[in-house]
Amino acid sequence: MISKILLPTDGSKTALKAAKYAVDLAKKFKASIIILSVIDQGAMIGQTVPARKTARHIIEPIEDYLKEAAEGFAGIIKKVCDEDRVKSETVIVKGHPVEEILKMAGRVKADLIIMGSHGRSALAAAILGSVTYGVIHKESKIPVLIVRK
Ligand code: ATP
Ligand code: MN
Repeated sequence: MISKILLPTDGSKTALKAAKYAVDLAKKFKASIIILSVIDQGAMIGQTVPARKTARHIIEPIEDYLKEAAEGFAGIIKKVCDEDRVKSETVIVKGHPVEEILKMAGRVKADLIIMGSHGRSALAAAILGSVTYGVIHKESKIPVLIVRK
């Protein structure tokens, strides 16, 4: 029985496709959806200079901006859920996407994780995005459904 679906999203086209798939499935199973967006600070700053060494006055506006963006696209998906009368909630956290996705899946006792094969990155040649790759390769018993781009 599927009663809780974790839906990690980065606002990409494929993630939206995954969201639509999740809503259809949730409707059939009368399941609820947890929409999760992870603010990946490391991806923005950590690749050039260590994030922890970057001054607060530089990080804060970036974080605010990323949070706003995350709330925006999580909200779009919430609307899709509302329209189809699927119970949902949005969660925005900061951290490493793979770790936060699995942590949240455990915390909410998700029966299934639904995510896209790809995300926002321009590296379209990759078979699988690194977040999805990380989620399926880490130790966990929760099934993952990957929606193709
Ligand atoms: P990469 O980031 O490895 O360069 P990519 O952006 O194409 O490539 P991923 O980031 O792995 O691929 O995205 C695949 C899926 O993972 C997305 O469709 C989305 O479901 C999920 N995802 C990616 N980033 C996040 C995030 N920051 N928060 C929540 N879910 C995410
Ligand atoms: Mn990505």
